[in-house]
Amino acid sequence: MALLEVRDLDVRFALRQGEVRALRDVNFTLDRGERLGIVGESGAGKSVVAFSLLNLIARPGHIAGGSIRFDGQELTGLGERGLRRIRGNRISMIFQDPLMTLNPVLSIGEQMVECLKAHRRISRREARTVALHKLQQVQIPSPATRLDQYPHELSGGMRQRVIIAIALLLDPDIIIADEPTTALDVTIQAEIMALLRELCEKHNVGLILITHDLGVVSQVTQRMLVMYAGRVIEQGPTREIINDPQHPYTQGLMNALPQMATPGSHLNQIRGSMPSLSQLPPGCAFHPRCDFMHRADGSARHACAERVPDFVASGNCRVACHMVAEMLALDARPAEEEA
Ligand code: SF4
Ligand code: MG
Repeated sequence: MALLEVRDLDVRFALRQGEVRALRDVNFTLDRGERLGIVGESGAGKSVVAFSLLNLIARPGHIAGGSIRFDGQELTGLGERGLRRIRGNRISMIFQDPLMTLNPVLSIGEQMVECLKAHRRISRREARTVALHKLQQVQIPSPATRLDQYPHELSGGMRQRVIIAIALLLDPDIIIADEPTTALDVTIQAEIMALLRELCEKHNVGLILITHDLGVVSQVTQRMLVMYAGRVIEQGPTREIINDPQHPYTQGLMNALPQMATPGSHLNQIRGSMPSLSQLPPGCAFHPRCDFMHRADGSARHACAERVPDFVASGNCRVACHMVAEMLALDARPAEEEA
């Protein structure tokens, strides 16, 4: 059984202009020690997935349906007390902005000690020893000195290391990291990502990594979900999706990557932008931006603008696209006729 199992997750926001469906039909599992990436442009619903896992969706949002099972326990509908036993303790979160997690008026050591004491029966001295050990694990320079420093005395990269140390503090089963390095420069981003990956691997901690950066996903994760307008549109093993993306949106994201483009050429940004969730186009939400709504012979694929595509299995991946379904059906035909 998977450690985490998310089924048909449905999140809605009750707004004055009506109900907006922020997530629908989100399905995935995470095994112990597995690393999963969730990618997509901003507004795709990646963070909503992260927040709903720990029931942190702020009003007027709410989980309207589906199930989130963690280690055999259903998390949707679990009360605050039950959730507090899980949050930080068994599932911890790393946010984009370290200053959102770190308290500016407490030293690093004090914050870590407080956090430990809130969840464990442990003396102040023992807690300080654990804190120091975690700071060593995240390879921060002069860890003992850092304990008595305040967040503003550390560089951005060091602050993010402290955040990772705090996320690891209670030996969680899963870390959810939402754009954890966006605020850092590129070299430090890569270092922090490599560290996060190494620590999760070493301690068998599951990771859900949320990012718009396909490079980061391919560096760190084993499986991935690609989200668009509140839905998962492609999911499967990271290597397979990166090497051979099936969904036109995933292909578009790949073509927009600097390292994929021919030197000197323009990046192929996907034209247009993600629709607002309150005004989703009918059919496939990507269709106004998609170059494949017409077949190679010029005929229109009407289903694209009319019906939401179902998932089809392509290799080890699942893809929600009418064109992919059509191509798979064509591929399958000769084999059937021969039989
Ligand atoms: Fe493009 Fe149609 Fe596939 Fe949507 S379903 S991605 S519009 S080909
Ligand atoms: Mg986000």
